[in-house]
Amino acid sequence: MEKQNRGITGKAVNQSGMVLFLASVFAVLASSTVATWAQTVRIEHSTLEFRTSPIVDLHMMLRSRDTDGKIEDVDSARLPDLGAALAAFGELQEVLGGERGWLMFEGNFDGCDSARQLLERFEGLPESARGQPLRENALNYAQALAGIEPEFLNGPWKKRKTRLNERLIELEELLDPHIENCIRFINRSLNITDPLVSIPVYITIDGPAPGASTSATVDDRGVCFVALSTAEGTQFVEAVLHEAIHALDIATRQQSHALNSLRTRLVESGIKRTDKRWRDTWHTIMFLQAGATVRKFISTEHRDYGEAHDYYSRVSRIVEIERPVWRAWLNGSLTIDAAIERIVTEISSDEFSFLVVKFLHHRDGPGWKQQFRKNRALHFPHAY
Ligand SMILES: [Zn+2]
Repeated sequence: MEKQNRGITGKAVNQSGMVLFLASVFAVLASSTVATWAQTVRIEHSTLEFRTSPIVDLHMMLRSRDTDGKIEDVDSARLPDLGAALAAFGELQEVLGGERGWLMFEGNFDGCDSARQLLERFEGLPESARGQPLRENALNYAQALAGIEPEFLNGPWKKRKTRLNERLIELEELLDPHIENCIRFINRSLNITDPLVSIPVYITIDGPAPGASTSATVDDRGVCFVALSTAEGTQFVEAVLHEAIHALDIATRQQSHALNSLRTRLVESGIKRTDKRWRDTWHTIMFLQAGATVRKFISTEHRDYGEAHDYYSRVSRIVEIERPVWRAWLNGSLTIDAAIERIVTEISSDEFSFLVVKFLHHRDGPGWKQQFRKNRALHFPHAY
C-alpha cells in the first residue's frame, strides 16, 4: 500500500437503522495488517493516514463513469477489458441495491492495493446478502479488475499517481502542521471523547459526485475516500476533515456526544429518522464544524465548502438556524446543551417554513425534482 502516515486526531459518531444493518451484511471484518496495526499500536490521539491505492483508484474510476459507461481522461482502447469490468461492476452494484449500496460495501477495500488482495478480501464475504449472491459477484468484479489491472498500472495509473502525489504534498503543507489541533478542536466542539483511532483516508482521482464518502467496516472503523474532483485548496482540506468527522462519528457510536444528542433530541421532538430534515440537521453541523476548523487553524480567509459548492443553498433554512447557534457555541456564548436545544426547537417548530420551501420548489416543477436529485447525491455519499 502506498501509504503515508500523517498525524491527525479524531473522533466519531453513531447511527442506526437500515444503513447499519446493511453495513454489517456487506462489510467483512478486515483481517489486514492495517487493522492489526491500528489495534496494536498505542496512539495518543486519533490520527489520519493518507493513502493512495491503484486498485481503489481504479474502482473509483469505474464508479465515476458517465451514463454511457464513458470515463473521462481514459483511453478505453488502452484498457481492452474495460467493458467486462464495467459489466461485472454493474452486476455487483445491482446485488448491493444500486449506487448507494457501494457506500455500505467500500469499507472492504481498506488495506487493498491490488486485485489479488481484493480477491482475498472478498473470499471472506458472506455468500449472500438479502438473498442475493454477494460473494460470487464481488469475486467476479475483483477478477474483472484483475483483467485490466496490468494495463491500468502501465498506462493511466502513472499520470494519476503523479497527480495524487502532488495533492498529497499540498495536503501535507496545508494540513500536517495543524492536524492534531484540528482533530482536538473537532472533538471538543462535538463533545467527543477521542476514540484513539487511526483513520484511513484514500485520496483518489475520481469519485461519484460530490466526490467524498466514508464507509464503515464491521469493526466500526470509518474508511474515507476523497477524490481530487471534490474541491481544491482549503475546501479540499475541509472535505477531508468533514469525512474525518464521519469516521470519528462511526468510532463513537456509544458516546453521548453532540451529534448523537442532536439525533436523539430530534426524534424526541417528532422528527423521524426517515425525515430528510433529521439527517440534514446533524449533517449540516458537520459542514459548519469542518469549515470553522479550517478557518481557525489553516486560513482565516477560508470560505465554507457548503457555500462554495452549493450545499448550504439546498438546506438554506437549516443553515439559517444552525449557523448563528453553532457560532455562539464555538465562541463560548452558549453551552452545547443550549445550542442543541435551540436547534431542535427551531427546526421542529418551523414546519411551516419547510413546507413553504418544499412548495416553492415543487411549484417550479422539474427544477424541484432536479434539486431533490442533487440533494440525494449529497445525502448519500456517506454511509453514515
Ligand atoms: Zn458528509
